[in-house]
Amino acid sequence: MKQKYDVVVVGGGMVGAALGCGLGNSALKVAMIEQIRPHHFVADQPHDLRVSALSIASRKILETVGAWDGVASRRNCPFKRMRVWENSGDAEFCSEAINYPELGYIVENRITQLALLDRLKAFDNVHLFCPAQIKKLDYSTSGTEIELNDGRVLEAAVMVAADGGQSRVRQMVGIGVTSWDYKQHALVLYVETAYGQQAITWQRFVPSGPQAFLPLTGHFASIVWYNSPDEVRRLKALQETDLLAELVNTFPDALGKINSIQGVASFPLKRQHAQEYVKPGVALVGDAAHMINPLAGQGVNIGLLDAAALAQVLIEADRARENIAALSVLKRYERLRRNENLKMMTLMDVFYRVFSNQALPIKFFRNLGLGLAERITPAKNKVMRAAMGLEGNLPKLAKGEAIL
Ligand SMILES: Cc1cc2nc3c(=O)[nH]c(=O)nc-3n(C[C@H](O)[C@H](O)[C@H](O)COP(=O)(O)OP(=O)(O)OC[C@H]3O[C@@H](n4cnc5c(N)ncnc54)[C@H](O)[C@@H]3O)c2cc1C
Repeated sequence: MKQKYDVVVVGGGMVGAALGCGLGNSALKVAMIEQIRPHHFVADQPHDLRVSALSIASRKILETVGAWDGVASRRNCPFKRMRVWENSGDAEFCSEAINYPELGYIVENRITQLALLDRLKAFDNVHLFCPAQIKKLDYSTSGTEIELNDGRVLEAAVMVAADGGQSRVRQMVGIGVTSWDYKQHALVLYVETAYGQQAITWQRFVPSGPQAFLPLTGHFASIVWYNSPDEVRRLKALQETDLLAELVNTFPDALGKINSIQGVASFPLKRQHAQEYVKPGVALVGDAAHMINPLAGQGVNIGLLDAAALAQVLIEADRARENIAALSVLKRYERLRRNENLKMMTLMDVFYRVFSNQALPIKFFRNLGLGLAERITPAKNKVMRAAMGLEGNLPKLAKGEAIL
């Protein structure tokens, strides 16, 4: 027995689940397939290693689709200040300077996902298949047939790939990527600190790569330490006491004492961009479309903007009685997002290259740049607004406006 859907979203991570919520209560019949059911949240459980700095625009999207309460009632750590420094220059950004109570929020990825998946249950037009595995996928320009492991078959007018950086859907529909390896890994550490969180994120640039210190609730923090793959492997293999000693030697005293390491993981850094975001009856969102250097924590933020833009394009086209699977309709989404994402990826690369370069002229201009960013208020405010996701052509959900 085949079940027909207007939209089938493959992948119910943060971005796919946000798209499902964005399409909630619309006239479209939507299915969401997620292979892993995330663990329940329990208030006193340790923080997860995977956390993201969510921007103000991301919070707005989550609020507008009704999922932010699910984040707020679980756990998140707002931050008001952002300090960026290197050997001889530094800049501090403060939300009060632009009349916002916060610059963003550090949230465990699982909490954002749980809040969105909970919210999905409120929409009669969205059906969640979780946990569900895809057995077979037949794509043609006139529609897609998806067979699940339990034998159920779903027919989709539009199939959305929200299945992450290794997207199987993207590969199966034959969309290529441009990618390169930064030849760096990120070591992510979950640590217990002597001081409680202070609503500030710290980012330092040293020749081996950036180092970030992100506050979590209570006496905990997340550290992201970029280095060569060999060095990250060496650090990861150390005993806790030795790794703690390396942390104490490497990170500045200003961050306070680190008492213990509660968890460690590492991730290779890769840039990847899909050559197209759409084909007839197919669209890519989130990491399935782009993987960006996590240096300034923008990956899921731009992914949530993709979800908001695609929901708007599909709902508006359906209301205008257009064929939502037509390439001309889906191209509207691509036009809204691909260039914006490319700009953000390029900007991150410029930061990355400039801050990891030790050539004297570049060091000079970099210090000058940080100094200017610190002193020139309009430039500083612009940087802050960009990091908060408030610049550019924002979709309705990111402005707090309902699509319906
Ligand atoms: C070290 C590090 C730090 C980062 N920090 C930040 C940050 O501070 N801020 C930020 O914005 N971003 C950050 N990012 C990036 C961010 O984690 C990603 O951009 C984000 O997770 C992408 O979300 P997604 O939903 O597109 O994909 P994913 O999170 O990869 O989710 C994909 C989902 O699809 C499911 N799935 C996959 N295949 C199938 C299938 N065949 N069938 C069904 N389901 C499937 C998976 O189970 C998963 O739930 C960071 C990344 C790294 C590596």
